[in-house]
Amino acid sequence: MAAAIGIKGHCAQCDMTFELKPWQLNAIAIDVPFDCTYCHSGLQLGCAKQLRQFRALDQWALVRPSMIMLTCATLLVALFAEWLGLLSVIGQLNVSLVAVLIHLLVVRYARHRQTMILKLQVINPLPVEQLARIACARLSEQ
Ligand SMILES: [Zn+2]
Repeated sequence: MAAAIGIKGHCAQCDMTFELKPWQLNAIAIDVPFDCTYCHSGLQLGCAKQLRQFRALDQWALVRPSMIMLTCATLLVALFAEWLGLLSVIGQLNVSLVAVLIHLLVVRYARHRQTMILKLQVINPLPVEQLARIACARLSEQ
């Protein structure tokens, strides 16, 4: 995942939010559990809706390079149209300004869509200490 920026994970166990590392993102992408950075519980993305959003991030990563190409093409066409006399200088400036404005808005929206916090669920809900405490309680009852 090349342009995975601003993706954070929230651990349901220790209630910490942390920046996901590339290998953690890969683990989520292939649906493999991984350790929480803080409490080391096994975590997995359980929400199907978030998983869909996560899988769609690859498409959003393509928005920026394609918008750069589109905006450059528009600016060149506007310059060429002015040179041919199809557009006035003011008209050419207006077209260029609108193109740059649309470019900024689309890139900003794409970045907004790429910024997400994944709600990670714990696979083994009981930590080892708690399991040990339950075992001790059972032993003392006998
Ligand atoms: Zn944790």
